[in-house]
Amino acid sequence: MFKIKEISFLAPGVLQALIEAPLIAKKAEAGQFIIIRSTEKGERIPLTIADYDKAKGIISIVFQVLGKSTTQLAGLKAGDMLTDMLGPQGNPSEITHFGHVAVIGGGVGVAAAYPIIKSLKKAGNTIISIAGFRSSENIFWLDKLKEFSDILLASTNDGSYGQKGLVTDILKDLLDKNEKIDRVIAIGPAIMMKSAADLTKKYNLKITVSLNSLMVCGMGMCGACRVTVGGKTKFTCMDGPDFDGHLVDFKELMTRLDSYKNEEKICLEKWTLECADAAR
Ligand code: FAD
Ligand code: MG
Repeated sequence: MFKIKEISFLAPGVLQALIEAPLIAKKAEAGQFIIIRSTEKGERIPLTIADYDKAKGIISIVFQVLGKSTTQLAGLKAGDMLTDMLGPQGNPSEITHFGHVAVIGGGVGVAAAYPIIKSLKKAGNTIISIAGFRSSENIFWLDKLKEFSDILLASTNDGSYGQKGLVTDILKDLLDKNEKIDRVIAIGPAIMMKSAADLTKKYNLKITVSLNSLMVCGMGMCGACRVTVGGKTKFTCMDGPDFDGHLVDFKELMTRLDSYKNEEKICLEKWTLECADAAR
């Protein structure tokens, strides 16, 4: 059992939870994730380790409320216990001296980008962080990114903060202005990572993406998280989650991510009705 120390909203529909997990915190590295189950009969879901404090034995997760499992998680309070948690899973991100690195985070992907930005900065890189949100009310953690960024740029879809448009528009502007960028790292919705991969290909610039495929076991046994990279089948949990963005079959990834949309909708509706019945 793992105790939730704190849980609070960072933005509408996005929460941060601090969880007591000394052994996971001790081993955690940037780019890794956990698999959690918040209740005895709950499903296993993967969430990135967004921050960790090895001395205090605490990890942070930041999650977007989408369906049943994340709604259940959002309903927990400080002091509540998570039924189980597995991790740290996945390979740590490549942390080396690339030179000038543009790290792009979209939505909740900003939280997943944070530990990578922090580690890359500590490895001596010049960091250009580009964070994208739907609107100004969805913004979170820009202060945390700023601490480890040489340049911090933001976009919102509606222009209510930063540049109006997409993170890839900002990246394109930088590349057109011949800003020195040796490596791009993109984390966020699959469509955003695909756009960033397409763009960087045109500029012959390497890009690493962190894939968010459907995942169940997180240990390489079930095959749910299979993706095609460079024409070969890879498991996001064991071979990733980071891959060369130019080699990822994003079309397949996006199709597979939507495979159970109908069942997920029914599952949330059924559970919401059960909760309403139980409350009567
Ligand atoms: P559902 O209604 O069940 O599903 C909503 C959508 O979420 C689905 O259509 C599908 O696209 C996706 N999804 C559903 N089940 C899974 C699953 N088992 N694995 C992956 N995606 C799923 N989300 C965050 O908000 N924060 C994170 O830090 C984060 N890190 C992730 C790290 C990895 C390595 C992976 C693979 C995914 C990560 N996700 C993260 C996605 C997160 O796991 C899903 O949003 C979550 O499982 C949705 O659960 P749900 O039951 O509430 O929603
Ligand atoms: Mg679910």
